Amino acid sequence: MKPIVYKIAMERMQILIDSAISNARTDLDLSQRHALLARRISTKYKIRMPYHLRMVFCKKCKSFIAPGINSRIRLGRTSVKSIRISCNLCGHTYRKIIS
Ligand SMILES: [Zn+2]
Repeated sequence: MKPIVYKIAMERMQILIDSAISNARTDLDLSQRHALLARRISTKYKIRMPYHLRMVFCKKCKSFIAPGINSRIRLGRTSVKSIRISCNLCGHTYRKIIS
């Protein structure tokens, strides 16, 4: 793949996820559509989304989950610093270790 195609695809995914997150409060349908488009770009160009984009998708049901709207983000209580993201749609919780 040409580097320019990769760059454009990455930029578009970033823009779509940004807009999905900012629209989640006002227009959930629109934000779901934008999130879906970002996923399609990632599949079409076989580009793995960077972590900060992937974290808005539930690992289990693959839905777009807007932070603070249909997902809950909490800090772990253990000595290992981590954040826990719970999907309000399927109830799945996953952890991200932060250093
Ligand atoms: Zn889920």
